[in-house]
Amino acid sequence: MKTALPVAEEPPQAVVRHRPLAKKSVTPSIAPAIKVENSRTRRIGPRFVVSERSREFLRRHYPDATLENWTDWRWQNSNRVRTLAMLEQMIVLSDDEREAIKRHTGALPVGITPYYASLVDRDDPNQAIRRTVVPVLGEYVTSRGEGDDPLGEDTHSPVPGLVHRYPDRVLLLVTNFCSVYCRYCTRARMVGSAGERSVKKGDIERALEYIEATPVVRDVLISGGDPLSLDNDRLEYILGRLSKIRHVEFVRIGSKQPVVQPMRVTPELTRILKRYHPLWMSLHFTHPDELTPEVAEACSRLADAGIPLGSQTVLMKGVNDDLDTLKHLVHGLLRNRVKPYYLYQCDPISGSAHFRTPVSKGVELIRGLRGHTTGYAVPTFVVDAPNGGGKIPLSPDYVAGYDGDYLLLRSYDGGTYRYPDSGERVRVATENAS
Ligand code: SF4
Repeated sequence: MKTALPVAEEPPQAVVRHRPLAKKSVTPSIAPAIKVENSRTRRIGPRFVVSERSREFLRRHYPDATLENWTDWRWQNSNRVRTLAMLEQMIVLSDDEREAIKRHTGALPVGITPYYASLVDRDDPNQAIRRTVVPVLGEYVTSRGEGDDPLGEDTHSPVPGLVHRYPDRVLLLVTNFCSVYCRYCTRARMVGSAGERSVKKGDIERALEYIEATPVVRDVLISGGDPLSLDNDRLEYILGRLSKIRHVEFVRIGSKQPVVQPMRVTPELTRILKRYHPLWMSLHFTHPDELTPEVAEACSRLADAGIPLGSQTVLMKGVNDDLDTLKHLVHGLLRNRVKPYYLYQCDPISGSAHFRTPVSKGVELIRGLRGHTTGYAVPTFVVDAPNGGGKIPLSPDYVAGYDGDYLLLRSYDGGTYRYPDSGERVRVATENAS
């Protein structure tokens, strides 16, 4: 699927625009949410908080840059890590990683913001965040059941840049650019690509016209690529057009920018977003090590702008597939005013076997959360069914069977409880039937 040194495309709008951590580590330096200023962080004028870790990384790898540069999301875009040479100056690459980068061509190039690169462990190829952004040779091994478009998005696309899979809502793909390219991306076939797969302005116009002409669409999810990689004018244009369509009741934005480039959440951006309520946002978190003081500030700004925040997390082997890591993540999200929304079974994109867990792992993790911690902290575990089946929720089975007119229920801690239920019977899984 991917084989020349990957070179990411330039951001669409301009040249200057879009803890050393142990494996599965949950470092004690995770920021207490919202309290973004402490002895290890410093606020630079009115712009953005900068952690001690960020300052050290800046001094070491960008000695000519200033803290003002660092807190400028356009500077972050134009200084992304995009080449083998840049990456090798920052981390000690394994032979596997180096070979994978050399072989890569096409979409999903290497692209890492300096900020996010500061979270990558220098020495450990198995560190969670490093695994999600540095290619390995496993990406070139296509396993049974995998495909480049496993969700069948292309076949549910009435016009380029728009997916209409569910009756009352659409997915509007406004860019194929992301400031960071995740190695497990469901849209690996298109993100970071140039040429025919890139999203063109004409495509967006046609997609907006489709929405205008389709009264059944009441909900528009703006995604990509990353919509917050667009410059403010472009983003506001799209939001403005959607706000004029009477049947569109609300808009959602799906983004990883607040996580990989938190300084993108500028006061100007939040002023724009506030103009287009009701607006919801799904943020893409992977691991508790992402919950830095910078991310706390970004989430705080978005929440203060009245935007309900939810998180979407892809479950990945060796990244976040243990209860301790997941618990730290969901608790940290709540402290940052983000509701853990979906936990996704990793989609079977080509070359993803090294990331995918058995589906039973997700169910087991939800069992470990439900009842054992705050209900708000428990995401819905879903499998996005191949070929357009949509998100199918899976949860542990708490129904033990029936005893006459009593439904037997299992509690989170293994107890069995009787509930009077003489009406239509709940379907009981075969292995639980009594
Ligand atoms: S930010 Fe989202 S769209 Fe972009 S590479 Fe990561 S998963 Fe894919």
